[in-house]
Amino acid sequence: MLTKTRLIKDLEKILPRANVLTELEERYVYSQDAANLPDIKKIADAVVFVENIEEVQQVVKTASKHKIPVICRGAGTNVVGACTVEHGGIILNFSRMNKILEINRQNMTARVQPGVIVGELQKQAEALGLYYPPDPSNLAVSTIGGSIAQSSGGARTFKYGSTKDYILDLKVVMANGEILQTGSNTIKNATGYNLGSLFIGSEGTLGIIVEATVKLIPKPQTRQVVMAYFDRISEAVNAVDSIIEQQIFPTTLDFMDKNALQTVEKFYPSGLLTDKEAALIIEIDGFAAAVDYQKNIILSILQNAKASAIQSSSNEEEYNHIWRARRSSMGACAKLKPNVTTDDVIVPRQNLAKLVLGIRKICEKYNLEVCMVGHVGDGSVHPQIPIDYRDEDEYNRLKLAKSEIYDLTSKLGGILSGEHGIGSAKRDYINMVVNPLALEYMRMIKKTFDPDNILNPYKIF
Ligand SMILES: Cc1cc2nc3c(=O)[nH]c(=O)nc-3n(C[C@H](O)[C@H](O)[C@H](O)COP(=O)(O)OP(=O)(O)OC[C@H]3O[C@@H](n4cnc5c(N)ncnc54)[C@H](O)[C@@H]3O)c2cc1C
Repeated sequence: MLTKTRLIKDLEKILPRANVLTELEERYVYSQDAANLPDIKKIADAVVFVENIEEVQQVVKTASKHKIPVICRGAGTNVVGACTVEHGGIILNFSRMNKILEINRQNMTARVQPGVIVGELQKQAEALGLYYPPDPSNLAVSTIGGSIAQSSGGARTFKYGSTKDYILDLKVVMANGEILQTGSNTIKNATGYNLGSLFIGSEGTLGIIVEATVKLIPKPQTRQVVMAYFDRISEAVNAVDSIIEQQIFPTTLDFMDKNALQTVEKFYPSGLLTDKEAALIIEIDGFAAAVDYQKNIILSILQNAKASAIQSSSNEEEYNHIWRARRSSMGACAKLKPNVTTDDVIVPRQNLAKLVLGIRKICEKYNLEVCMVGHVGDGSVHPQIPIDYRDEDEYNRLKLAKSEIYDLTSKLGGILSGEHGIGSAKRDYINMVVNPLALEYMRMIKKTFDPDNILNPYKIF
C-alpha cells in the first residue's frame, strides 16, 4: 500500500514542486464540484497542475503503478458530482493546459488543449469569422475538456447540435499512460470504429483528453432574440410546436417558468415580467434578410399562440440583456438557500408540458421550491431546486422528489440526462432508463480501457 508521503515524493519527481498541492485546505477545495454533494466527504491525496502531455502521462503511470485514482478537473462546474473524490487519489487539474494551438480557417477546425475555456474558443473563432456553437450556460468558465467529458449541450443545441457534433479528433492518455488518437483532421471519417464517441460523455472514466480537434462553421452574419410571455405553460409549448410546424429553424427555443422569472428579477433585475406563467426565448441567426423574414413569421405565430407580451432585441446590447437574464437563473436560485441542485431530464418534445407540470406537482408534494428553465426545443428541462443540506428533513424530501422526477421522465419516454451527465449524483438511477445489457456492455468497455479502475472510479455506474 502506497503511503501518502511516497505518493507525494513520486509526484514531485515528475512535476515542479509548486504544481503539487498537498495542504489540507488546498486538497479540500479541489475535491468538490458545482454539485456540492453533501454525502461525499473524502478529499484528494494530492492536487497536481499539469502543463503538457508528457506530465499527464507521467502522473497516470505513477497512479497506475500504485493503483490509485486519477480524477480530471477542468473548471469543476459540472453539476452531477463528476469530479468529486470518493476514494482518495490525485486531482489532475487542467487549468494550465489552456492554449488554443491552432485555428485553421481553410479547414474550419481548431486544435485546443483541454483547459481552454469554451467562451474563449468562441471569441477567438468569431474574430476570424468562424463559429463554435456549443454553449453551456456557463461557457465563460467551463473548459473544452470538461464539456467533452460531460457531452455538454446548451441552448443552441436545437439548431446546431451539442459538443459531440463538433469533435473530429482527440488525443487521449489511456490508463497505462499510452497516447491514443481517436480520429482525424477531416470532416468525415468512416475508417473503423468511432472511438472518439466513447470518450465524449465518459466523464473521465475511460481516458484523459489532452488535445482536441474541433469542427468550426461559418459565423452567422447576425442574430436577434425574441422573448415571449404566456399565461399558461401549455400555450408556450404549443407556440414552440407551431414555430416548428412552420418550418422555421430558430437557434434556440428556450424556456423560463414563473418561479425562474421571479427569482431572476428579484436578484438580478432585468425588466422581466414576473406575473407571467412562462416565457420563451427564441433566437434566430443567419443572413440579415433571413433573420428579419423569420422573425416576422415568429412574431405572428406568437401572437396567434396567445403570447401575452413580447420583447425583442434590436441590437447586441439588448440581445445580451435578454440572455444574461436567462443565464442568471441558476445563480439567482442559489441565492434562495445555501445550495441549489439542478437537473437535465429530457423527454420527446410532445411530452414536455406533462413533464414540466408533473415536476411542479412533485415539488409541491414535497414542499420544495423549484425554478424551471430549459431548452424546450429539445424537450429538456432544468428543475433548479434550492436546498439547505443541513436540514435533514428537506434533504430527504429532495431525494424522494428527485426519484419521482426520474420515474416520471422514464414513463414519459425520456432519459435522465440530456447534457449534464450522470457522475455520482444520478448513478443509482441509471438503470431506470438504460437497459441491463447496455449497462453490462458499458462496464465491459470500462474494464477494457481501465482494467485497474483508476480513472475516476465509480462514476456513472
Ligand atoms: C451555472 C451553470 C450552468 C450550466 N449550464 C449548462 C448548460 O447549459 N449545458 C450543459 O451541458 N451544462 C451546463 N452546466 C454543466 C457544466 O458546465 C458542464 O458539465 C461543463 O461543461 C463542465 O466543464 P468543466 O470544465 O467545469 O468540467 P469539470 O466539472 O471540471 O469536469 C467535468 C467532467 O469531465 C472530466 N474531465 C475534465 N477534464 C477532462 C479531461 N481533460 N479529460 C477527461 N476528462 C475530463 C472530469 O473528471 C469530470 O468527470 C452548467 C453548470 C453550471 C454551474
